[in-house]
Amino acid sequence: MKHLLHNPAYKMACDQFDATAEFLNIPETMRERVKAPKRMVTVSLPVRLDSGEVKVFEGHRVQHHLTLGPTKGGLRYHQSVELGEVAALAMWMSWKCALADLPYGGAKGGVTIDPRQHSIGELERVTRRYTSEMIPFIGPQTDVMAPDMGTNEQTMAWMMDTYSHQIGHAVPSIVTGKPVSIGGSLGRKEATGRGVAFLANRAVDMLKLPNDSRVIVQGFGNVGSYAAAGMAKFGARVIGVSDVSGGIFNAKGLDLQALQDHVALNRSIKGFPEGDYISNEELLIQPCEVLIPAAMDRVITAENASKIQCRILAEGANGPTTIEADAILKQRPEIFVIPDILCNSGGVIVSYFEWVQDLQSFFWAETEIFDKLYRILGHTLDKVLKQARKHNIDHRTAALSIGIQKVVDGKTIRGLFP
Ligand code: GLU
Repeated sequence: MKHLLHNPAYKMACDQFDATAEFLNIPETMRERVKAPKRMVTVSLPVRLDSGEVKVFEGHRVQHHLTLGPTKGGLRYHQSVELGEVAALAMWMSWKCALADLPYGGAKGGVTIDPRQHSIGELERVTRRYTSEMIPFIGPQTDVMAPDMGTNEQTMAWMMDTYSHQIGHAVPSIVTGKPVSIGGSLGRKEATGRGVAFLANRAVDMLKLPNDSRVIVQGFGNVGSYAAAGMAKFGARVIGVSDVSGGIFNAKGLDLQALQDHVALNRSIKGFPEGDYISNEELLIQPCEVLIPAAMDRVITAENASKIQCRILAEGANGPTTIEADAILKQRPEIFVIPDILCNSGGVIVSYFEWVQDLQSFFWAETEIFDKLYRILGHTLDKVLKQARKHNIDHRTAALSIGIQKVVDGKTIRGLFP
């Protein structure tokens, strides 16, 4: 898929894959088979705006591999969405699901739209049109979507409704991350952020860092806000957070509840009075024990990787660290990296629980969900650390190598059709 390589995220995902394939010694012919996305669907979405005017949006869905089960992954609404980026995110979903031993291939969807510029009605029409265009390609045993950046429970409810109308009865298992009232799972909304906090806190214990460790979170959306709250629950002190409007810093620790209330009211952390304004770039390089990038990809770069001053880099976002930054981090063994495909996998793990509950129409208690989630995350972290120690490799290569090897093994044993 050389035509996608102009996209920096896709190039990054391919470079990561190539380096890991080299480490794993994967045969050349198998490399292309495992790397290339299986299906890429691009649709145009004509949607009537509130003004009466019709605007055509572009939507994508990339299903990376279908070897181990249905494909799984979020749907992103962002103005920078393009096919290459969606393909990169789909690939990362594949390794993430395989690493956690979920019976899925990776997928990702996206619509090129700035959701903040549109009314609820417009977003509903975009979502319903996108779902309807995708009906031939999705299904509970084919491809299951979930929220990602710019989408939420409401988006999933519209998708489920649109799909169910087409089929003729309610099909909750068509998406995960739905409201609990229509077949969503308890804990799904918090799962990614709480998973990040669980793993970061494990690392705090392993490195024998203080319980009231200082935490900085970039991004205060669904992942960042629950990660911050989760860290605070473990006794840590959240000293800085940010969103697109910039950051807020308070060395004494931020009052997260007050910040949540402020964000609920203003849809942004901008103007929160109990701290100093700080830019996103400055925030990332402040001294702290735990740094959690939980927003866009490629924010830890060649420019700032040597300047970050954390002991633990817990990657809540997908692809936050560039290849160049990774090379610098490899020279900084004092930083314990929890790579994205492990660190933020709590979301898709509980999505898996949601899908299983929907298929069985049998729902679990929240304690059961978090017990199972933490067991899988703890076990996966141990697996990654063991692989890293055994081969003397960095945590990212260790995590990727486990995920990629699983997909290679699946393709090898299934054989080639026809
Ligand atoms: N969008 C989330 C991710 O990037 C969740 C995907 C899912 O739950 O299917 O991992």
